[in-house]
Amino acid sequence: MHLSILVVGEMGTGKSTFINTLCDEDVIPVDRAHGRDELSIENFNTTIFEGGTKINLDIVLASGFGDSVDNSTCTSKLVKYIDDQFEAALKEECKILRTHQSNDTRVHASIYFIRPTGRGLRPLDIQCMRALSERCNVIPVISKGDLLTVEEKKENRECIMRDLRNAEIPNYDFTASFEDIGEMLPGVNIQDLIPMTIVSGTERKIIDNMEYKVRKLPHGIVRVDDPAHSDFLLLRTCLLGACLQDLKDMTEEVYYEKYRTKKLSEASKRTNLGSARSPSLSKVKSEASGITAK
Ligand code: GDP
Repeated sequence: MHLSILVVGEMGTGKSTFINTLCDEDVIPVDRAHGRDELSIENFNTTIFEGGTKINLDIVLASGFGDSVDNSTCTSKLVKYIDDQFEAALKEECKILRTHQSNDTRVHASIYFIRPTGRGLRPLDIQCMRALSERCNVIPVISKGDLLTVEEKKENRECIMRDLRNAEIPNYDFTASFEDIGEMLPGVNIQDLIPMTIVSGTERKIIDNMEYKVRKLPHGIVRVDDPAHSDFLLLRTCLLGACLQDLKDMTEEVYYEKYRTKKLSEASKRTNLGSARSPSLSKVKSEASGITAK
């Protein structure tokens, strides 16, 4: 199995920690220098075993998103990245001799980290999420849930969903794989938990003879997989299990298909225009040489 995720958000929102928690290893070096003032896109890869399935996980980390004074190019860089991967897939598909083991780099989901300010989305978030939602499955998440009270979590969730609804930006519909997730959350509508509020942490602690990943807080510890405090486990289960195939199917059947249709119809328009133009071009040429076309 292969999955490619794009992780986007402001610097310091916890993207690297989330990835390292998800992967159970420091895929992204923790001592990496921060402080870039423009968007950079870095690729990482690892293998995860989930429920007996080997998953080859590609991680595309967009750092420095919205961190500079001029953020005008952030969205276009991300759009270009996603479209470039579609273009590579299209080129491969159009080859007469296709490579058997071609490297498919299309993005299956973008996980959009939102800082919980209690004020909803920034105009840049709206602009970016709109562009992303036209090209891939968008999964918004609220980071650092341990710093929020239950009321603050609800308030942030409501503000963000209000802004997404007003801007008519769709987010990934988890209910498509509802049967599998429903077993995890009896009586809960998963869409009511969007954006999921996550806590990430790579430290380990033995609790009741079991080892857990935790985040240490001044007043105690939070288990990252404790559903009472964090939707991390739910998100992990959706990404690497319940929704994995649906995320891939949506990418292939909806987003890539949209790109492919657009590109091929543009190309065919150009060809038609070209052939429509050529007679008049020859007419011009023959007129120029003194021969009158009948
Ligand atoms: P990035 O710049 O988005 O990749 O953010 P990092 O993953 O480097 O995290 C920035 C800081 O936030 C680090 O000090 C992390 O330990 C901390 N952090 C990450 N996740 C959480 C979280 O869930 N809760 C809290 N309280 N801090 C977090």
